Amino acid sequence: MANDVMIGFWGKDRSVIGKPLVQAVPELVGQPFISLLQNVWRTGITYEAKDTPAELLVYGKLQTFYFDFAYRAIRNEQGKVDCILHTAIDVTELNLGRAITARAREQQEAYERETELNGQLNESNQKLEVAQTGLNDLNCELERRIHERTAELAAANKELTAINEELLKVQQLLIERTNELASTAETLRIAAESASVGTWSMTPDGEWFTTPEVKRIYGLSPDESLTYRQALAQVRPDYVQYAMDAVDASLAKGEQFNVEYPIIEKAGGTERWIRSVGKLMQTQGHNNGYLYGALIDVTESKQDELALAKLNKAIEDEQEKLYQFIMQAPAGLALMRGTDYVFSIVNSEYQAILPGHHLSGRPFFEALPELKETAVEQALLEVYTTGETRRFYDQLVPLPDFEGEPLRARYFNFSYHAWRDELGHIDGIINFAYEVTDQVNARQKVEHAETQLRHAVAAAKLGSWHIHPVTRALQYNPELAQIFGYEGDGLMTYDQAIGQVTEEHRSRITQEIEQAINAGGDFDITYTQRRFNDGEIVWLRSLGRITQDQNGNATIFSGIVMNITEQMHSRLKIEQAEEMARLSIETADVGTYVLNTEILAFVTSPRLKELFGYHPDEELSYEAFVNQIAADYRGKVLEAVQETIETRKKYSIDYIINGLHDQKVRWVRSYGGLYPDAQGRYTQFYGVIMDITEDKTDEQRKNDFIGMVSHELKTPLTSMKGYLQMLQSKARKGEDTFTTGVLEKANKQVSKMTTMINGFLNVSRLESGKIQIDLQRFDMAELVQETEEESVATISSHQVMFAPVEETWVNADRDKIGQVMNNLISNAVKYSPGDSMISIACVTRDGKAIFSVKDEGRGISPEDLPNLFERYYRVQAVKDTNIAGFGIGLYLCCEIIKRHGGDIWAESELAKGSTFYFTLPVVE
Ligand code: ADP
Repeated sequence: MANDVMIGFWGKDRSVIGKPLVQAVPELVGQPFISLLQNVWRTGITYEAKDTPAELLVYGKLQTFYFDFAYRAIRNEQGKVDCILHTAIDVTELNLGRAITARAREQQEAYERETELNGQLNESNQKLEVAQTGLNDLNCELERRIHERTAELAAANKELTAINEELLKVQQLLIERTNELASTAETLRIAAESASVGTWSMTPDGEWFTTPEVKRIYGLSPDESLTYRQALAQVRPDYVQYAMDAVDASLAKGEQFNVEYPIIEKAGGTERWIRSVGKLMQTQGHNNGYLYGALIDVTESKQDELALAKLNKAIEDEQEKLYQFIMQAPAGLALMRGTDYVFSIVNSEYQAILPGHHLSGRPFFEALPELKETAVEQALLEVYTTGETRRFYDQLVPLPDFEGEPLRARYFNFSYHAWRDELGHIDGIINFAYEVTDQVNARQKVEHAETQLRHAVAAAKLGSWHIHPVTRALQYNPELAQIFGYEGDGLMTYDQAIGQVTEEHRSRITQEIEQAINAGGDFDITYTQRRFNDGEIVWLRSLGRITQDQNGNATIFSGIVMNITEQMHSRLKIEQAEEMARLSIETADVGTYVLNTEILAFVTSPRLKELFGYHPDEELSYEAFVNQIAADYRGKVLEAVQETIETRKKYSIDYIINGLHDQKVRWVRSYGGLYPDAQGRYTQFYGVIMDITEDKTDEQRKNDFIGMVSHELKTPLTSMKGYLQMLQSKARKGEDTFTTGVLEKANKQVSKMTTMINGFLNVSRLESGKIQIDLQRFDMAELVQETEEESVATISSHQVMFAPVEETWVNADRDKIGQVMNNLISNAVKYSPGDSMISIACVTRDGKAIFSVKDEGRGISPEDLPNLFERYYRVQAVKDTNIAGFGIGLYLCCEIIKRHGGDIWAESELAKGSTFYFTLPVVE
């Protein structure tokens, strides 16, 4: 960088910017300036000089100029001279002036000397005077010009002073910065020295500077020389390439290098390990920078490291051996390390014991959390702390097969041995294990069976006996004596025992015993015997077996005997009961069947086949049986059977069947139920079927009769009602209040009778399937509204409250639904005290309109609730009062609602009141 004034001094233009000085101003070569500059660069000391001539090529002419100038070193942050500030003032003209003045003075002196010496030369004095005047003029002119120039210089000087001040400030700052850096460097130096760190730097030209510490590390005395080459030559040959490559690689990336390598000391040839770190510092304008580095002797730690590596290798080898041993062991072996017992080696046999568990690398109690706080935890701790081996045999260790599954009782033989590290400290546990669950279970089963047998023999009061095959000597247990009622002092003999057997069994028994002893084989006989003490006859069953030696000779004949009197008696009772049932079935003329609900095997009695129009010896399958049921009833029957199978409820249903061969139509009533088979599974459907055609016909006749009578009664009643109304209007006109009153009552009775007769008519229509449902779409709200109006007009005895009803569309027989509503309301009136509240509502829920009538009346007992909707059903207590009714209202209501696909039911509490509900499906 140079300003225009400076460039002007040099007689150059701006093209010189960026060129080295020697190129920009080549004429300076050979003049002192270049070396002066180099000196400033090296030393950093400012060079100042005045009136210094410089040969410069200006306007193509080499001329001498005079300058006052200074070279000032400027340092960078690192305190290094980074550039030089060159200031200069051209004082050439000033110099020229001075030279002329000096010459004039010399001439004057010469003249004076001449005048003095040659007074005679007056003539020439004249000329000289002229010259003098000219010279004086010139002098004046020169003085003036010098004056002017001096003023200019003073101004320039002032400027220079300002620049100088500026420079001083910069200098000051630089000094401070340098001091700072110096102190940092000092600190670093101290640190480096105290840490025995050798530091070095390499100039871009490859000059290598080191601190004495570097030499010390290389095993040299401070005054011995150490060049870079020498240093490199000392690196152990096998590391030279490695170290150089590492340095190059990190330098290429602009990163710090950090390598470790061994060097061989020159004297003695001892090996030392060195760590070398360093970094390239780029200097401005240079491609290469300074390389700074530090060295440290790491021999000791390296040796430790190597020793450790060796030790580790030895340990690894040792562990490898252990690993191989464990892995190849023919039993379950695992090594758990550390206080957490981490599974570090697990062989396949061990893993096979715990197949669903992840073990390797996991702490023992993390892999097997279910073993926490068990004997196992305690044992592990003991082994770990005392080093003593613990062994367990047939130990119950409840463990799941897979992690997270329920525990299973499992048995193991296992041991824990302390495992010690190379220093002999306990560092783990070797666990040896094998599962013995199967063996333990098998043994327990045998033991269990044995105890069970012993207990069973005692509990079942089984007597046990041994008969000597040759001597017939008898041995027995106390239970046998008890069964036999033997209270004698000595042992009971074989003959005594046989003597108690009742006459009809005795010979058979002796024969069987002889045969068993002689021919071998099992012996099982049931007989009666008279007890010794009370003479009571008891039923006994005796089981025995003969044991033979190698030669086939009977060695021992032994067995048990049990008292089966009770069983025999109850069997007899069952047989009797069965006989009675058979008799009653026969006399009741009932058909019976058993259906296996799983395989649909169907066994029927001859009477049943007869009812179905089959020949008694003909096969009747379940399918054929179902086929004979009248089509209208088949579905219902199958449904009822299915319900019994699913719920085990009793089965009861009436239906019509068509006889196969006889083509007879029969009404039958069937009862049945589901019973367990021999395995206790409910697969047996037992049923009875009886012919009720006769009853049904009677009923039909009765219905027909009621229907006919009701129908016949309707006409006269209608006429009667008409006559009564006529009489009433006449009485009203004659203002005969008594007659009007009586007629009013008569009219009410006739109305009641009409309702009753209509009821009967409806029942008979219903029975004969003649009831008609005329569906139409209507709004329940409107129907309830009408019902309300009617109720308000007719009911004054109770407080009837209708809740508001929202628009609710249904598809139903409007008249019949109205009838149902009225019926429920009139029942509420009938069965609750006067002035009590009756609340009526109709709401929609889950696509159903729910109509309800709530009263505060007598209520209905839970036993009566399910039967209310049966034909002619009346609660007994009601029958005892004089409330009129036939028990057909609710029956009709129920039939109507059911035919609409709705439900009807009541909820009630005795003495509190009842609520009757029915539902109808809502339509859009
Ligand atoms: P009826 O009222 O003619 O006897 P229903 O079929 O209408 O015949 O009723 C059957 C029986 O149900 C009645 O006899 C009565 O015992 C009982 N019952 C009906 N409604 C109510 C009610 N709201 N409160 C108490 N009991 C009732």
